[in-house]
Amino acid sequence: MERLDAFMARANAAYYASRDPYADFTTAPEISQSFGEVLGLWAAVVWQTMGAPDPVILAEAGPGRGTLMDDALRAIGRAAPGFRAALRLHLVETSPRLRALQAARLPDAVWHDRIGQVPAGPLLLLANEFLDALPIRQFVRRGGGWTERHVQAGGFVELPAAPPGLDAAEGEVVEVGAAAQAVATALGARLAASGGAALFIDYGPARRAPGDSLQALRGRAPADPLVAGGEADLTAHVDFAAFAAAAQAAGAATQGPVPQGLFLARLGLPQRAEALARGQPPAQAAALLEGVRRLTEPHAMGRLFKALALCPPGLPDLPGFQ
Ligand code: SAH
Repeated sequence: MERLDAFMARANAAYYASRDPYADFTTAPEISQSFGEVLGLWAAVVWQTMGAPDPVILAEAGPGRGTLMDDALRAIGRAAPGFRAALRLHLVETSPRLRALQAARLPDAVWHDRIGQVPAGPLLLLANEFLDALPIRQFVRRGGGWTERHVQAGGFVELPAAPPGLDAAEGEVVEVGAAAQAVATALGARLAASGGAALFIDYGPARRAPGDSLQALRGRAPADPLVAGGEADLTAHVDFAAFAAAAQAAGAATQGPVPQGLFLARLGLPQRAEALARGQPPAQAAALLEGVRRLTEPHAMGRLFKALALCPPGLPDLPGFQ
C-alpha cells in the first residue's frame, strides 16, 4: 500500500522513462510553433525589464521533446540577439529518454533533475504542463474527520488523516498539490532574492474546487489511473490559488492566473500564426490557423489552461498580464 502521491511519483517516473508520452497526449508547443516563439519573446522582454543581466539563466522545467525551447530560441535569436548571447540554457528533466530527445535539439543545454539544482543567479524559467505531472495527495471528508487515499491493488484504501487545512462536505475529495507548492516556495524565495521570473502554463481552475481531478491518458483516451500506473500519463488539475499563495509566502509576487487564450492573444500569437500562414499552401495555412484555434478558443485549451508568473515584488506587469 502506498500513499497516492508516492504512487503517482513512481508511476510517472516509470511512464516518462519508458514511453513516448506524445503517443498518449499532445501539448501546446506540439500544436503550434508560435507557442514557443511567443514565450521566447516573453522571456526576452522580461530580461529587458530585469536590466538585461549578462549572463542570465534561461531554464525550462519538463521540456518534453524540446520543441518549446527550440521555437523560443529561434525567435529570440532573430528578435533579441543580445539576450540570445547572454542566456545560459538549463533544462530540468528526470526522464533519460526525453533528455536524449532534448539533447538532439538543444545541444548546449545543461540538465538537472530538480529545479533546486539550477545554479544561482538571475533566472527566467518556462514550464508548460509540468506542474500537472507532479504528485498530489487526496483527502476525503468522512464522519466529521478526514481520511487520506492510498493505493493498493488497483484501488483506493482510505486511512485516517490529520485535517488537510481545507474545507469540504461529507464524502467529498480535496486535493493537495504538495509537490507543486514546494516548487512555488523554493522558486518564490529564489526569485525574490536573485531576480527574474518564472512562467507556468498548465490546466486547472483559478480557484480550488473540491473534487477528484486525477486522470490518466493512454493512447489519447482516458484510462483508469490506478490500474494504468506506469503505462499512462497521470495528471491532476493545478491548484493555482494554492500555488500562488505558497510563492507569496516565500516572498515573491505573482501575476495571473490569466486564461491561456487571453494570454496568448495579448502576446500576439494569432497574428504571428496568420503571418506564417500567408504564403503557405492552403493545407498548411489551414493547419496553422487550426493550431491557433485549439490553443486559444475557450472550449478548446483557451480557458481551462492558465498562465501564472512568479517574480520579485515591485516589478511592473509582465507581458500578457497587463
Ligand atoms: N513541456 C512539455 C512536456 C510536458 S510533459 C510540453 O509542453 O510538451 C511533462 C514533462 O515533465 C516531461 O518532460 C516529463 O518528463 C517531465 N517531468 C515530469 N515529472 C517531472 C519531475 N518530477 N521532475 C522533472 N521533470 C518531470
